[in-house]
Amino acid sequence: MAFLKQIEQKWQRKWEEAKIFEADPDPEKPKCYITVAYPYPNSPQHIGHGRTYTLADVHARYMRMRGYNVLLPMAFHYTGTPVLAMSKRLADNDQDLIDDFINIYKVPEEKLKEFTDPFKMASYFHKEIKAGMKAIGYSIDWRREFTTIDPHYNRFIEWQFQKLRQKGYITRGSHPVGWCPKDGNPVGQHDTRGDVEPEIGEFTLIKFTYGDWVLPAATLRPETIFGVTNMWLNPEVEYVKAAVDGQKWIISKESVQKLRYLNKKVDVQKTFKGRELIGKEAENPATAKSVLILPADFVDPRNATGVVMSVPGHAPYDYVALKNLAKASAELKEYGLTSDMVAAVKPVSIIAVTEYSEIPAGDVVKQMGIETQLDPKLEDATKEVYRHEFHSGKMKPSTGKYAGLSVAEAKDKVKQDLMTEGKAETMYELLNKPVVCRCGTECLVKIFEDQWFIDYGNPEWKAIVHKALSKMEILPEELRAEFDYVIDWLHEKACARKSGMGTKLPWDPEWIIESLSDSTIYMAYYTVVIHIKKHEIKPKQLTDEVFDYVFLGIGKPAEVAAKAGINVKVLEDMRRDFTYFYPLDSRHSGRDLVPNHLTFLIFNHTAIFSEELWPRQIVTNGSVTMQGAKMSKSFGNIIPLIEGIAQFGADPLRMGILATAELLQDADFSPTLARSMQDRLERLYRFGEEIARVGEDPKATRDLTLPDRWMLSRLQEHIRMATEAMDKLAVRKAIHSGLYELDQDVQWYMRRAADQTENLHRKEIVDYVLSQVMDAQVRMLAPVTPHLCEELWEKMRGKGFVSLTSWPKPDPAKADVKAEEAETFIASTLEDTQNIIRATKTTPKKIHYYVATAWKWKALLTALQKSVTAKLAQNELMKELMTDPVMKREAKSVAKFVGPITDEVKKMSAERKQRQIQVGEVDEVMILNDAEGFFGRELNAEILVYSEEDTKRYDPKNRAQLAKPYRPAIYIE
Ligand SMILES: [Zn+2]
Repeated sequence: MAFLKQIEQKWQRKWEEAKIFEADPDPEKPKCYITVAYPYPNSPQHIGHGRTYTLADVHARYMRMRGYNVLLPMAFHYTGTPVLAMSKRLADNDQDLIDDFINIYKVPEEKLKEFTDPFKMASYFHKEIKAGMKAIGYSIDWRREFTTIDPHYNRFIEWQFQKLRQKGYITRGSHPVGWCPKDGNPVGQHDTRGDVEPEIGEFTLIKFTYGDWVLPAATLRPETIFGVTNMWLNPEVEYVKAAVDGQKWIISKESVQKLRYLNKKVDVQKTFKGRELIGKEAENPATAKSVLILPADFVDPRNATGVVMSVPGHAPYDYVALKNLAKASAELKEYGLTSDMVAAVKPVSIIAVTEYSEIPAGDVVKQMGIETQLDPKLEDATKEVYRHEFHSGKMKPSTGKYAGLSVAEAKDKVKQDLMTEGKAETMYELLNKPVVCRCGTECLVKIFEDQWFIDYGNPEWKAIVHKALSKMEILPEELRAEFDYVIDWLHEKACARKSGMGTKLPWDPEWIIESLSDSTIYMAYYTVVIHIKKHEIKPKQLTDEVFDYVFLGIGKPAEVAAKAGINVKVLEDMRRDFTYFYPLDSRHSGRDLVPNHLTFLIFNHTAIFSEELWPRQIVTNGSVTMQGAKMSKSFGNIIPLIEGIAQFGADPLRMGILATAELLQDADFSPTLARSMQDRLERLYRFGEEIARVGEDPKATRDLTLPDRWMLSRLQEHIRMATEAMDKLAVRKAIHSGLYELDQDVQWYMRRAADQTENLHRKEIVDYVLSQVMDAQVRMLAPVTPHLCEELWEKMRGKGFVSLTSWPKPDPAKADVKAEEAETFIASTLEDTQNIIRATKTTPKKIHYYVATAWKWKALLTALQKSVTAKLAQNELMKELMTDPVMKREAKSVAKFVGPITDEVKKMSAERKQRQIQVGEVDEVMILNDAEGFFGRELNAEILVYSEEDTKRYDPKNRAQLAKPYRPAIYIE
């Protein structure tokens, strides 16, 4: 471990001295521009954060080795509530947070006192995070570092917002937003605990009436109003009679505050228990029919208004609730109701769907075996009915003028009509509540007035974004549908706040642009910030004209430069760097940023830049769990990144995070895993050191034996697999090919080669083969464990840095199917023999092998040929074989052989068939004789090999006739 630490520091220093990760335009080389979301410096990073950044770094290192001029920059996101809220919590003496900072993250107590100033806190963690990124060995070009509150960056964001506004993508008005009532601010994903995006649903409030009172029932399916059979109220909760915008409403007590935030004027007049209305009748505003108000303890007063309409024909919850209630006669009696009265409430069918009978809810409930309202399957049942009805349902004649419409059409039309007639309103509500603000307050929906929005609801803009997405590579591809969904679903997003650090809205400086809105196109800024720093350009020199020229190519450089007071050469360099590195080749982030940041990034790029500059790829990854559990402070299982590096070493940590999971899976980390990675890498190091010492002998290639050719051939296959995996960033798979599977082959090779290394020339050959393996292995592992690989590379006398050398290419000249099949034959023969020895519990002295005769080979190869061109049939195979005079003579034996061989060939994979056809007849006698020393050593017995047709063979039990191609008969004495 100590030596790993030394190696890390040594190579980090050398990389820095040689400036090998500083990327400038190089017209000779193709470029590859990779970025990863810059971090909020509001707390130290832990191992969970490490995954996204490590993956981006591995990607950058891989592309560098593939010959690209790679740029991987980094900056820090000081903007908005993530930093501010953390600082506020400290100012409020939040003891949990203070304990975490002191105990988990080891922040000095006197430092902590300064953190009530958000800037001081951000600066502290900025340094801390940066030190961690260096210590883990990220290949970042640090010359481009900035923070989002740098005045130069502010100018860039101001320019971006002016552009958005000119294009008509900025709106001002009243819109529903997720809202923290305590902070008085809109909330997005980065403002909430657990990073949940508040999802706003638009419910229709249908105004049922009870005397002169309105019972507003919230629904997402207004078209089902015609199927309402009853209402549900919770008898045990408190409802209020209130004047709502002058109308008399009955609603749950909990809904009062929510309605006020939706800009309704609510005057509560009286509070009462729901039970008072049970058994009474309400009127359906669409049909004027009376419906019974029934008791339901499942009605949650916190959901919408706490008043619920019941549609048992099409809503599984209602269907089951009615069934259950009909049986609860004792309870019903309290309200003067009877089971018969409830049983008389029959589901009404209003939508025809081919998949179901009259009553879809009843069908699904029966299919799924649902008995009670508490059954979690009800959620699925509801979705399933809705899916079918929405997809293929048609409104029935019982719905009057809506008859014949699709459900999708009826849904909008019914709602519109009810609203126009004053029988319904809209109510916004969080669909995924509870959503809790970082300050600890539960969020709700507010109609936010006179607010600035980015209009992600604009349909023409959405169409462009869909087009951009369709041209992008999404890794893993299965997330593409989620992006399309988010693009459709997004609506106006509040883009400014009145508090926090950041850039002021250029036309309304009371407002500060919030953190998900000032982080969408900053990848462009990295390409030019280097010149801004180097030439000490002042913020006010960065005029809109300057950015217009640099990023959009608008204007004449000499004029723009003169007006801004910037050297024209510098201005042109900025333009050159931007056009060299843009478009962005790859964006990395956690998958939780799909619904906001990553989609906003596509939106904003299409708004600002021309089509050829839109991003090309997005890579998302899952999270990290700790020994199977979610990482969380309450579980006490968070390991700060800095501590992880100190404890396990940078390379084992990098490997530990990436070797256990593919992109979307959660990676499970544990100290045991990290330590096993340490052991594994130390072993690799010692082995490599050994090989490196001997060097390679080019003359050795002349005398390669079977195991040598096999090892070199396998190596090409592992290189091919690892390359294919890395191209899709399936890093786990690449590590498996390049490390674990390759090592298994090396183990086998060493066993096979062992007896031959006595001979000096043989030893040179084995060393040559192993040095070939090592050379490729070190290159393949370099992106993941760069420090160790640099050290080995140096020991192997590699040229320059392994970080800058080329990724290995499979050499087709070294691929050798014959050698691979022959070794497979040796391995399976050894295994068969060991199985027999184990089963018979003998200690063998002599082992006799009998290999299959020539006609058996011919039979097998004929069967293989036939099976690839057509369906293999035993009788046809036999017919064909009988045309051969040799076979004809052996007809009886052939007939016995054809059955089993047909079955075996049928079970073979297509690939295996091709390989065996390619290889043809194998000289098994020669192979086994050559491997005699190996078998003798492995089995500790004398080895004798005969051909089946050898008349002088020793075969007391007449075993030879059992021989098959690739499966010699075995006799043990
Ligand atoms: Zn709050």
